[in-house]
Amino acid sequence: MFAEEETALNVFQTMLLFLGGAGGIAAGVAVPMFYQSASEASEKRPNSQVCFVCRGTAESMCRFCSGMGQTPMTLGSGETRMSICVNCSGAGKKVCTTCAGTGIQPRYLDRRVFAEEGDD
Ligand SMILES: [Zn+2]
Ligand SMILES: [Zn+2]
Repeated sequence: MFAEEETALNVFQTMLLFLGGAGGIAAGVAVPMFYQSASEASEKRPNSQVCFVCRGTAESMCRFCSGMGQTPMTLGSGETRMSICVNCSGAGKKVCTTCAGTGIQPRYLDRRVFAEEGDD
């Protein structure tokens, strides 16, 4: 009677192995598809991180004139005059080049750590 039970158990185990194997194959196919769709979803996730350079204003201060719109120009006589900044045409600001004027931080900068402003 033990032999008979063992046989029944073996059949049952074989069925489990078969089902498990089939399930494993299905999972092996499904998992990469799941990861692929998950990564695509994260790419499409709206990026609302504010640009760290312009803080979402989409403009950056002109470094040439420090936002004054004018730069001091020393004349031949030694006299100093203010003249319109050639870099920003007197606006004192430029379109933020980091976010290309979107005010949103580019995704490739997401996880970077930046030094405090004023180091350069
Ligand atoms: Zn300027
Ligand atoms: Zn910006």
